[in-house]
Amino acid sequence: MDIMILMERLGVIGNGVAAVTTIREIQKIDSSIRIDVFTDERYAYYPRPKLMDFIAGTVQEKDLIQYDHDWYDRMNAVLHTSESVTNIKQSTLEVTTSKSTYGPYDRILYAAGSHPWIPPIKGLEKKGMHVLRTLDDAIDIKEAVYGTGREIVVGGGILGIELASAIKRIGGDPIVISNIETLLPAQLDAAASGVLLKRFNEMGLEILLNFTCSEIAGDDQVTGVISSAGDQISGDLVVAATGVKPNTALAKQCGIECGRAVKVNEYLETSMPNVFAAGDCMEWNGISHGIIPVALETAKVAAQNMIEPKSAIYPGTVPSNTLQVVGIDLTSVGIFSPSSHEYESIISINEDEGTYFKVVVLYDVVVGGISLGDRRFALKLRGFIRNKTVISEIRNSIFDV
Ligand SMILES: Cc1cc2nc3c(=O)[nH]c(=O)nc-3n(C[C@H](O)[C@H](O)[C@H](O)COP(=O)(O)OP(=O)(O)OC[C@H]3O[C@@H](n4cnc5c(N)ncnc54)[C@H](O)[C@@H]3O)c2cc1C
Repeated sequence: MDIMILMERLGVIGNGVAAVTTIREIQKIDSSIRIDVFTDERYAYYPRPKLMDFIAGTVQEKDLIQYDHDWYDRMNAVLHTSESVTNIKQSTLEVTTSKSTYGPYDRILYAAGSHPWIPPIKGLEKKGMHVLRTLDDAIDIKEAVYGTGREIVVGGGILGIELASAIKRIGGDPIVISNIETLLPAQLDAAASGVLLKRFNEMGLEILLNFTCSEIAGDDQVTGVISSAGDQISGDLVVAATGVKPNTALAKQCGIECGRAVKVNEYLETSMPNVFAAGDCMEWNGISHGIIPVALETAKVAAQNMIEPKSAIYPGTVPSNTLQVVGIDLTSVGIFSPSSHEYESIISINEDEGTYFKVVVLYDVVVGGISLGDRRFALKLRGFIRNKTVISEIRNSIFDV
């Protein structure tokens, strides 16, 4: 029989959206719980998508912080900035950081997020090479853009495209390179990628596909990138936007079971008793995502179960992505490019207007799709999925907005 320990003290590792959402949910239920929050960054909470607005110059640094220290006070929480957690002691649930030891805690939330992943490329140590994950990364990139002639963004995913668009807005001259032949492979099928490429061409955003970057050119300072075929593009700043990897090192070192990310069960419990995981760093049912909808949903379920064990089940999240580039409305939700014949895909494409709408159906129910070019259809599509809409009821009016 499980003995239920009431939660009086909670330790939170990480200070991203999963962490602050859990804290908020817990305080809604029981405001007496005392919380310690540890982050290796030097800032209070800021939303990462806002970093694009900061680089684009539409949001100032001082306006990025969404929750200042007063917020943590109100949450009965103490924020420990620039403090990296180096160990979790299983027997007492004490947390050791780069500065001290804290706890014991009744529960711990592991919300360590993820970090940029770069494929093997020669010369990554050169000056002028960047990644974008944190506010400090964004400050570095923004400062560097003002001194450069041409910026090369390696990676044709959402992050790469949004970053190139932000750099362009502050007067840069970016080019996006991608090693495959379509854009946004995690969100779009080939046809939608074609429509999007045409829109970017019209907007003057340069994109080069089928260019596999294998080396960063230059002696100490970046002077460009070289492809595996030996082609070279000149540039004085390179940002790798080639993916993310969940932060599992601490968990692994403490003996917590990990796959690609930290493994959790349906209650978001890790293999270490009373340690829960949420957000980018967790893997449920063999799946891990690096998107905010997953962080929000797992954070809420974890909060519920930390207060009342096994009271809420995580049902999984329908993945959903929106590209935030001025002049482009692009959303993809759920299953958008099915590989099995059991699925039906219904498509409406208008190249002149730059629109591409797709609805994917399984056993008569809408399970995913793509909306490019009209936000109204994106809203409609989300509604279809939320309501598990039966296709026969809407087939004749499916693309009406
Ligand atoms: C520029 C940018 C734009 C994005 N835009 C979108 C978007 O529009 N939509 C979307 O869905 N997603 C977007 N994402 C992804 C989204 O930000 C992540 O899914 C989200 O931040 C995950 O939240 P999290 O709380 O799990 O982890 P994180 O936000 O990564 O936070 C984890 C924190 O824990 C800290 N940490 C890790 N290990 C330790 C340790 N040992 N000790 C102390 N601290 C530690 C990390 O440094 C980090 O600060 C974007 C990401 C970036 C970088």
